[in-house]
Order: sequence, then structure tokens, then C-alpha cells
Amino acid sequence: MIRVTCFGAAGSVTGSNYLIETSDGKKIIVDCGLFQGSREMELRNWEDWGYDPRAIKNIILTHAHIDHSGRIPKIVKDGFRGKIITSPPTAELCEVMLLDSAHVQEMEAEWKTRKNRRRARKDTHPLYTTRDAAESLKFLAPNELDQIVDLEPGIRIRFRNAGHILGSSIAELWVEDEGKETKIVFSGDLGKHDQLIVKHPFEIGNADFLFIESTYGDRLHRNFEDSKAEFLEAINYAISNREKVIIPAFALERTQEVLYLLGEFSRTGQIPNIPIFLDSPLAIKATEIFRKNKKYYDEATQAIVHQGFDPFDMPNLTLTPTTKESMKINEINGSAIIISANGMCSAGRIKHHLKHNLWRPGASVIIAGFQAQGSTGRQIVDGAKAVTIFGEKVAVRAKVFTIGGLSAHADQADLLAWVGHFSKKSNPTIFVTHGEPTSSQALATKINEKFGLSAYVPKWREVLTLDHVEAVREILPEPVSIDLRQDMLTLAEEIEAEISRFKEQIAVKAPKITEEELEKLKDIREELQTVISG
Ligand SMILES: [Zn+2]
Ligand SMILES: [Zn+2]
Repeated sequence: MIRVTCFGAAGSVTGSNYLIETSDGKKIIVDCGLFQGSREMELRNWEDWGYDPRAIKNIILTHAHIDHSGRIPKIVKDGFRGKIITSPPTAELCEVMLLDSAHVQEMEAEWKTRKNRRRARKDTHPLYTTRDAAESLKFLAPNELDQIVDLEPGIRIRFRNAGHILGSSIAELWVEDEGKETKIVFSGDLGKHDQLIVKHPFEIGNADFLFIESTYGDRLHRNFEDSKAEFLEAINYAISNREKVIIPAFALERTQEVLYLLGEFSRTGQIPNIPIFLDSPLAIKATEIFRKNKKYYDEATQAIVHQGFDPFDMPNLTLTPTTKESMKINEINGSAIIISANGMCSAGRIKHHLKHNLWRPGASVIIAGFQAQGSTGRQIVDGAKAVTIFGEKVAVRAKVFTIGGLSAHADQADLLAWVGHFSKKSNPTIFVTHGEPTSSQALATKINEKFGLSAYVPKWREVLTLDHVEAVREILPEPVSIDLRQDMLTLAEEIEAEISRFKEQIAVKAPKITEEELEKLKDIREELQTVISG
């Protein structure tokens, strides 16, 4: 029987990672993403894979977003030597995305190490280095959309356009097991029906099992035209106050969509000629890859090209790849539009721009992307009066515009419409993943009500045994985080050192010890005992 284990993006949106196993021991991975958001989530990146990376021959990569691709350097570092099958634009985008991710990991480890040294603790190592990332790129194997590819005997795959970001794909997989062929479809992330730049998601008619994302499984986006109007209003709000417009944007797709809209506003004279900055080296590189891949554009974007325009450029746009250029932006008086990363305001240059502008009444902050639980962006969206940036409290006085209709994800209606293309005859069993639990459950319930299909929400580390009629489910125990274990060991060593010092002190000043001090020590012992006995 075929088994699929959900090692990521189950009960959460990040860390996409599914293991498919056949009875005769073939193993394939779909996506290898980074867990992002809260510290608890991030610690999962350090845990054991739950399988041996050396035993995997193929990784199917649906798209270049880090929550789907970000652990590729780690899996290669841990011994994976097979092929990473993906679309040509995804392979190109991964080059810049993974190197950048490694750089972020290195910077964070460096910062933690400096902090640790002040407290005489051990150095922190990055999850992977730039060198690991560069090495992992050698395993990328681009394959064009709409073509069936043999991965290994009895396993075939075909990518279909997912309409989410440039190069994003749905994976159709045919797996032979015990003489039977089973078709499993992984939606990857699906775009919404009026997604800018990329083409409409491909409509698939049949599958035995379907894994579908549910980022917005419980919500409907605002109408796109309304969102566009709101976006324009947010820009004009800050301009009328001679303040800045801050747009935290993911470097990939969201940035290009923002540029696309600004280009349109600029060509049609809807915004004045104020400076616009694209302040993210990664976004600058990603935009360059978009320019090279025009054949994947939708009709409207190709039309802009045919009229002689670059959809992602305008005369007042300045690219600021270097830190020096970036810092100069904050010396500018008056209005400007600043697009910077990352999109959840939790890292990168955007933090500097927020520190300079978030407290200014009259400025605009445009939140146009998904904000994971625990991120600074989520706090801003949820109406926090102040947020902590670089260890300092910054008041939120700028006007915050949360624009849902610019999402690159299908909303509930889009997801249901897409599921509706599967024929009654194929009657797929559906697993709803890549969403917060309430979101996934809402979509599962709707799918069941609307189409009468079985729809389940698997838990993290759940093993699904795919029978032709139903799935048997079992959950693997949670692993102990290597990072947490290390922290615990370091602390225990520190306590040991303190105790030796204490013993030496007692030997010297024994006569001065009071009854009270003895009692205090007894309390500490008791507390320690409760920690140890768990
Ligand atoms: Zn995505
Ligand atoms: Zn995703």
C-alpha cells in the first residue's frame, strides 16, 4: 500500500514536506520547505527528517517560495543526492531564493553567537550556509510544464500551472504499487481567479487522492477591483500628508504584483511622480527572472509588453541593492513609496523602514500578504498599539491598510471552484493541508457539503495509508528538537558550574551561613527536582 506522511504544512502553512512510500520501498518527497513564524515552528527545522535523506531519489518541488523550498540546502547537507524535479522558472528562482535564505540563516546565527558569547554560552550554527545552498542547486532538474516525466520505474509525474507565482506548479503523480496504479495530485499553492502576471490555475479532472492547500480555506478575499482602489487610496493618504508609504512585500511575486500595479497607476496618471524604491536585493534579482520568463505571463501582462512597456518598471523607480543606498532612503524628506522585504516584517530591511515610519501619523503601511501567527506583521494587522523592532518598542501611529484582495492564494470560493473540476467518476479522497487548523477544517467541511467527497485534515506527522477506497491514519510521535535539547544541556552544564563555585564558597565562609539561606537552597533543590521529573 502507498503511504504518505505529512512532515510539514499539516496544521500550519509552512514547512511543506510530504513523504510518499511504496510497498517495495520507493521513496519520493514533495516539497522541502522551511518552517516559519513562531520560534516553536522554527525549531522544527532542526529536527530529524523522519526519514533518511540518502534513501530519497526524487524531490518534487512545486514552487520557489521558501515555505516549500527552504530546507533543500539542509536535505542535501544531510545526504540527499537525487534529483529535484521542478519547473524551469522555479529552478531559476531557487537560485536566488536559497542563497538568500542561507544568508539570512548565517546572519541570524552570527547574531545569536555574539549574544551567547556575552553570556559565556556556546556558538550557534546556521541551519545551512551559503556554501550548502550553492551545492544544493546542482541537484535541480528543470522539467517543462504539461509533460509526463518518468521518475523511476512505476512512478510518473506531470506539472500543471498552479497560477500562484511564476513557475508554480500542481503535481500530478502516478504511482504503481502492488500491480495497481494510483493517481495522487498535490495542488501546491493555488493562485486566485484574477491573479496578476501568471496564468489561471490548470483545471484537473481526475485523481484518486488529492492534497489541497487551504491558506485561505475559511475566507473570501475582497473583490480585486476594490482592493486595487484601496491600494491607491493608501498611497494617496500618505502622499496627502507628505509622508511615506511602506509596503512590506515578499520578494517573490508580491513585489512584482506591487510593481505591476504601481506601473499601471503611473501610466494612467493616478499617482503623482514621487520616488519609488525597490529596496530588497532579493526582490531586485527575482524581478529580473520575471523579465526573462515572459512566456509564462498571462494575456494582460503580455499585452503590456506588446505596447512597449516593462510591466515592472516606471521612470521614477529606483533600485537600491546596497545597504548604503538603502540607508539613504530614510534621509529623503516628503513622500516616497518604499517596497521592501520581508513580507511579514519579521526580518530584513523592512524593519528599518518600519522603525523610521511606523510611529509617524499620516504615513501608510500597506499589508498585502499573508501574516503568519507570531510575526510582527500579524501583530500590526491585529491592531497592536506598539511593536518591538530591534529590541525597541515602536508605536503604531501610521495608518495600516490590510488589503486581502492582492493575495497570491486562492480563497475559499476559488478552492471550491477548482475542486469542482474533478469528475464525479474519479471521486477523489481529499486531504486538506497548508493552512491553520480552522482554515483547513472549514474547507474540508465545505468540500464535503458541496461535493459529497471525503475530505480530511491530516495532522503534522500523520501517516496516511492510501487504499483505493479510503485512507488509514496514524500519527508519528513528535521528535525532540535538537536545538532545544542543546539549550537544555548547556543550561545543565551552567548549573553544574554554579554549584561547584557554590561548594567552594561554602568551604570558605561556612560559619556565616544562616538558617534562611539554607531554606532558600532547599526551595531551589525542590524546583530543580520538579523540572527533572518533568
Ligand atoms: Zn507559495
Ligand atoms: Zn505555501
